[in-house]
Amino acid sequence: MTTKVDLLSMLPEEMEQYFISIGEPKFRAKQTFSRLHRGERISEITNLSKGLRERLSAETLDTLPTVEEKLVSKLDGTVKYLFRLHDGACIESVFMRYKHGNTLCISSQVGCRMGCKFCASTIGGRARDLYPSELIGQVIAAEKDSGERISNIVMMGIGEPLDNYDNVIKFLRLVNHPDGLNIGYRHISLSTCGVVSGIEKLAGENFPITLSISLHAANDAARSEIMPINNKWNISELLSACVSYYKTTGRRISFEYTLISGKNDSEADAVELAQLLKNAFRGSGAPIHVNLIRVNEVKETGFKKGTPESVNAFAAALEKRGITATIRRKLGSDVNAACGQLRRSNLIKKEEI
Ligand code: SAH
Repeated sequence: MTTKVDLLSMLPEEMEQYFISIGEPKFRAKQTFSRLHRGERISEITNLSKGLRERLSAETLDTLPTVEEKLVSKLDGTVKYLFRLHDGACIESVFMRYKHGNTLCISSQVGCRMGCKFCASTIGGRARDLYPSELIGQVIAAEKDSGERISNIVMMGIGEPLDNYDNVIKFLRLVNHPDGLNIGYRHISLSTCGVVSGIEKLAGENFPITLSISLHAANDAARSEIMPINNKWNISELLSACVSYYKTTGRRISFEYTLISGKNDSEADAVELAQLLKNAFRGSGAPIHVNLIRVNEVKETGFKKGTPESVNAFAAALEKRGITATIRRKLGSDVNAACGQLRRSNLIKKEEI
């Protein structure tokens, strides 16, 4: 990060302190906060004096992610953005249209250090965390570019949100603020590969967001093979954290399960998964929901997707055992390179030049 003041990462009360520190009245904070969150740059906030605008333009970061590349689906209008940040790093966000409103899938880090074997985002490791301004900047930039309001956010893009905990928490407060974008916590989902310490901390924050757990396997041997995080916190520790999260927050948790042909997609795997989840949540009263998705094939990983029939059979085996399963509807399948692949191909292109 530069030494410039990062106004867009500040809550109004923090902005007040900043204005006081430069000898300005604190009421400037409210105006500035709401106009920055509408996507205006400092130079456009004309209710600030010209002198102050010049000072702020020089001393503050005053940037939003810029559109480096944009793929628009011909099928359903889904837009996949490659955004460039102020230091040149690139991240991805995906704009999706659903009946219940527009949803933006955002990235939480530049790259990722979690090392999941099937995932394109983690191949080059993590370059850095995203700042709160860059988390909310994706939402503001996508609203500006599309001219449409975003009402739902999923943190399922590049990176592990609970590995960038403090900035993600700050982002949640910013995006929910009534003077800003005012997106309700119930319209926000956060997906984690299973950072148990983060799940425990999050339970104490009292945000009624939806938590998604990337499970992807029904036993430790299989999970450790594809998700290194499982060596730090195993399935039983992860599921106990989920049960406590449910007991503390009352929010249901959904499980993501990526089906990889010949690895985790047999009927026996479905039976084991159903048993595992039922045992873990027995007596808690929590509804259990599993989201199935066929693996997106990534050249470097060699994992293959199964047939649509095998996915249907897996879902049916779960349902038969009382577990609600949905097969994730693929929006933008013509632009839906697996998450992280657009950034990766851009990096490769740059290195070749
Ligand atoms: N780090 C977080 C959020 C980002 S990944 C997490 O792990 O949950 C968002 C989801 O996409 C996760 O469920 C992840 O396991 C899944 N995913 C990653 N690569 C994939 C691929 N090639 N095919 C299908 N799903 C994938």
